[in-house]
Amino acid sequence: MSHSHHHDDHDHHHEHDNRYSDMQARVKALETLLAEKGLIDPAAIDAIVETYETKIGPRNGAAVVAKAWSDPDFAEWLKQDATDAIASLGFTGRQGEHMRAVFNTPDTHNLVVCTLCSCYPWSVLGLPPVWYKAPAYRSRAVINPRAVLEEFGLTLPSTKKIRVWDSTAELRYLVIPEKPAGTEAMDEAQLAALVSRDAMIGTAIAGQPSEETA
Ligand code: FE
Repeated sequence: MSHSHHHDDHDHHHEHDNRYSDMQARVKALETLLAEKGLIDPAAIDAIVETYETKIGPRNGAAVVAKAWSDPDFAEWLKQDATDAIASLGFTGRQGEHMRAVFNTPDTHNLVVCTLCSCYPWSVLGLPPVWYKAPAYRSRAVINPRAVLEEFGLTLPSTKKIRVWDSTAELRYLVIPEKPAGTEAMDEAQLAALVSRDAMIGTAIAGQPSEETA
């Protein structure tokens, strides 16, 4: 009884740190066991992790946004069937099988969260940032998105609506930021450089063109 009470108390205060290190230890133990039994190849696991850490990242998503800004037909396709439109650029696979693109407008800002865990569109954004997986973000993004955005340094006019999208294992969201003013002459590569990872989660907006590139 006293043990279980102590345990609850302990969990309550150190919940998150312990959960993540427990999880890492379990993953490591499982990986070692599977490798010993010859069921997995550690080099293959390393290659997958390395791919998501270095090759598949937010530049994929930025290319999708830049194309949507430059090509109205692509933007329409992205609205109707984001999975297919994104796959047409070669971005497919793990954690990106079912995608939905949500477009920011002058009236509405979109913000993505996974309240249950950390579902995230890996194929277009790579691996999620630590804060995206943090319980504070996951709960507060829904309860008080405006305050959360303020903490990210994004102050939206009070007249702008904020829509919060809760990712699931089945459906992942990509925010299409508004195209900044003064970018009419830019090509897709220049436009993509204005699109940060956070702008595609909704905790930022697209960057303004600098004087040299405008
Ligand atoms: Fe999740």
